[in-house]
Amino acid sequence: MFRQTRAVLQKLRYVRFNGQQQTWRQRSTSAKEKALQYQPGQKIHGFTVREVVAVPDLFLTAVKLTHDKTGAQYLHAARDDSNNLFSVQLRTTPMDSTGVPHILEHTVLCGSEKYPCRDPFFKMLNRSLSTFMNAFTASDYTMYPFSTQNGKDFQNLLSVYLDAVFFPCLREQDFWQEGWRLENEDPTNPDSPLVFKGVVFNEMKGAFSDNERLYAQHVQNKLYPDHTYSVVSGGEPLAIPDLTWEELKRFHATHYHPSNARFFTYGDLPLENHLKQIQEEALSKFDRIDPNTEVPSQPHWTSPREDHVTCSPDALAPDPAKQNTLCVSYLLGDITDTFEGLTLSLLSSLMISGPNSPFYKSLIEPKIGSDFSSVVGYDGSTKEASFSIGLQGMAEKDTERVKQIISQTIDDIIENGFEEERIEALLHKIEIQMKHQSTNFGLSLASYVASSWNHDGDPVELLRISDNVTKFRRALEENPRFLQDKVKHYFRENTHRLTLSMSPDEAYLEKQAQAEEKKLQEKIHGLSDSDRKEIYEKGLELLAAQSKTQDASCLPALKVSDIEPTIPITPVHLSTAGDVPVQYCEQPTNGLVYFRAMCSLNTLPEDLRLYVPLFCSVLTKMGCGNLDYRQQAQQLELRTGGMSVSTQVIPDSTQLDTFEQGILLFSSCLERNLPHMFQLWSDLFNSPHFDNEERLRVLVMMSAQELANGISYSGHMYAMTRAGRHLTPAGDLQETFGGMDQVKFLKRMAEMPDLSQVMRTLPRIKKHLLNPDNMRCAVNATPQKISDTAAQLENFMKDVAANRKERKSIRTNIIRKPLDPLNESGPSRKLLTEPHFQPCQMKTFFQMPFPVNFISECIRTVPFSHQDYASLCILARMMTAKYLHGEIREKGGAYGGGARMGGGGLFSFYSYRDPNSTQTLSAFRKGVDWAKSGQFTQQDIDEAKLSVFSAVDAPVAPANKGIGCFLSGITDEMKQSYRERLFAVDHKSLVDVAERYLGVGQRTCGVAILGPENDAIKKDPSWVLK
Ligand SMILES: [Zn+2]
Repeated sequence: MFRQTRAVLQKLRYVRFNGQQQTWRQRSTSAKEKALQYQPGQKIHGFTVREVVAVPDLFLTAVKLTHDKTGAQYLHAARDDSNNLFSVQLRTTPMDSTGVPHILEHTVLCGSEKYPCRDPFFKMLNRSLSTFMNAFTASDYTMYPFSTQNGKDFQNLLSVYLDAVFFPCLREQDFWQEGWRLENEDPTNPDSPLVFKGVVFNEMKGAFSDNERLYAQHVQNKLYPDHTYSVVSGGEPLAIPDLTWEELKRFHATHYHPSNARFFTYGDLPLENHLKQIQEEALSKFDRIDPNTEVPSQPHWTSPREDHVTCSPDALAPDPAKQNTLCVSYLLGDITDTFEGLTLSLLSSLMISGPNSPFYKSLIEPKIGSDFSSVVGYDGSTKEASFSIGLQGMAEKDTERVKQIISQTIDDIIENGFEEERIEALLHKIEIQMKHQSTNFGLSLASYVASSWNHDGDPVELLRISDNVTKFRRALEENPRFLQDKVKHYFRENTHRLTLSMSPDEAYLEKQAQAEEKKLQEKIHGLSDSDRKEIYEKGLELLAAQSKTQDASCLPALKVSDIEPTIPITPVHLSTAGDVPVQYCEQPTNGLVYFRAMCSLNTLPEDLRLYVPLFCSVLTKMGCGNLDYRQQAQQLELRTGGMSVSTQVIPDSTQLDTFEQGILLFSSCLERNLPHMFQLWSDLFNSPHFDNEERLRVLVMMSAQELANGISYSGHMYAMTRAGRHLTPAGDLQETFGGMDQVKFLKRMAEMPDLSQVMRTLPRIKKHLLNPDNMRCAVNATPQKISDTAAQLENFMKDVAANRKERKSIRTNIIRKPLDPLNESGPSRKLLTEPHFQPCQMKTFFQMPFPVNFISECIRTVPFSHQDYASLCILARMMTAKYLHGEIREKGGAYGGGARMGGGGLFSFYSYRDPNSTQTLSAFRKGVDWAKSGQFTQQDIDEAKLSVFSAVDAPVAPANKGIGCFLSGITDEMKQSYRERLFAVDHKSLVDVAERYLGVGQRTCGVAILGPENDAIKKDPSWVLK
């Protein structure tokens, strides 16, 4: 649970809020109106109201308060959304790289005064209907957020969170388990060698095995060398063993204090109750201190700096000879200046985002590198923001050229500025983002205000987005060179800039291992026999504590009877447009229209299947009709909220060997732009451009790089996909579309000198896929807009009618399933069935350049509608919480691990960033023995049910209502019977399914591991090595 806010995933982070007007719960007086009645100066439960502000754009009322006795700050956003959120945020500013804030974040969740049981945080996952629970360590703050739709649950979780943060036990044993410890490799054998262990220690080793992450860390440390940003808040693996338990407790006392805290609540529950509970259970027990945690401004350099770092070579790099990264980072202004921050983030988008931006043209298109560097664009997660620009996947010899291009591009921008239409497109994007309704609005808001508020910026000011956009427009009117002047000031004339290069070093991993060994020897060196004996005994104590059955009865819990017995029905109606079936779903979409089309793959020749993911990723990016790819990108931004295409493998709900295969087109737009959106789709159907090889090469390279980079984040997903490959026909196709096979295929393609064969393939795929004959559509819009959308859709179908062609399916075994179960003769989905499919066992090992493993074992069980499916879902959850978590994470030191039941009928075990390999496979098997032995209680079953239901009942945004049914054919009625089967699961049915499906001899399973060189597996002939 460590999030570097400067994460590579948050490229382009200028606005991450999503509007949500949805009233999940109708009230006579809405929450936001009621909150307007608070008066500045009013005293409520130890707090004083400071400011009350209506924010109509985001449909909320903001109430700012301070706590009288401690000075704690509080922001409440009242909004008619039942997905209520709480978060408490502490300013944590470490001055060394021991990872003290990160280890503290882990250990406070290991038990507290009122809730002394081990790991109350993980236990609450099973005692609540939370829609989100987590904890984050950023560079300069630590945040503890949760959300839930249930009022009682909110109180329960609030109580546990407050106690964890302000009154944690911080036992020495928690520190060893979560932080670091010396322990015998085999804790039961005092003669086995001593090694470092600990959850954070392993987590950070895993994190730094990701080169993008490593580079981002170096940039931050070196651009802000004078205070807290010069250290690694998550922990530098080799510095972690310098942290002591005493230092951890001291850091808690000074940083986790109300005087250093910011509380945020969101939603439709009344503010008074929150304040009362927070006052009574936490704040009243503290006096004010001066936490002294401010971050000073970074002194500006008088001349630019350059530096160089190394990393491990990437075996999956699209071009092994091009593995360098180079990027120039500029220190910008203080993020608490809200308008300047908005201006710079907009400016950043204009500079780097999309094929029309100057840096895309000057750096990406000449194909000097494979993509922008992982750190790119505006970053407002530090007290003073930064902007970075550069490339990854480039050759060392191009270093000077890239530097030259960057400075030349900046000069060009100062000279030429930006086209007006691009600025309009960007502001249109903000309008869409504010209107689009997400289900985690509270959480987006909490993260959106976190950084600025952390440095005493005004969070309410940040929420007034429209005001700031208006101010931005005015600034542009008053001074046409407004943006160019900013570029001149912040880039050309800025001497606080860092040029950082990174190159691979063949010996990197070996050097790391040596450094770790050296550190280990330092720690072991002075140990006496009695020290060693003590280490051994402590190891045994920890093992015993981890193995003890735990009493969680001190924790509050919802009951199974608190769960709604029935689901709300989502009404949809079926119609047609030009003979194509269309599902309409009326939703409060706040003026947006969402369009989807599912196109079947059944007629596509087998040899083209590997190309489908590439087809999807390039289709909307190469130009269409009269538009070249630049103009197309411009129109997409100006007229839509985006157009995307993705592969779909949809398992049948009744048969394991039956599935639907296709691609899904998706787009959204403001109601006024509906004709434009359909025009863009028509152009794609009628005349997509696939003939620009240069453009295709750029896209192939970027896709290959993105896939290769993603493995160290989602290795467990790749392991699971691979393990399921030979178990069902759908599993096989999943691997083709999104598994290691696809990663390797794209890498090969990126290395091909000539893409003309690929260019000939894409139009062939298009003929099969963009064919109205095997298509169905879905529209979600406001009731007022449905009939207009239907008329436009009818026109669209006329426009693309020439693409309609009846084609024979490649395979003969096609099953038709009616879209409306009550109308057997109506329109249908065409599923592929392979009744003679022979599942087979296979163990595959992928050797990867990571120091940790990702492991999965998948077992073929039953499909969704089968009687036993519900029991397997509950069993997976219960095994995770009651057995696997303890074995794989607590004892094994992996970052995570567990079991899950998939819709395709595969029961999957997995581990994430795991120092072990075969030991984890035996933990999976022992988990099955544990389940078969029936050594669990009714309480355990009820907890697993709550946890499964919190996922089943997770809120669905208006854009996505009815879509599950549209894609998979699983109706509300089918969901309701599944719900009833979930309620009915009992002890007997759990033992029964564990024996019947998971027991050795009963199962057909696949295993896959991604990990470092492994001698045991190499010697074992039952493994296939890749
Ligand atoms: Zn963590």
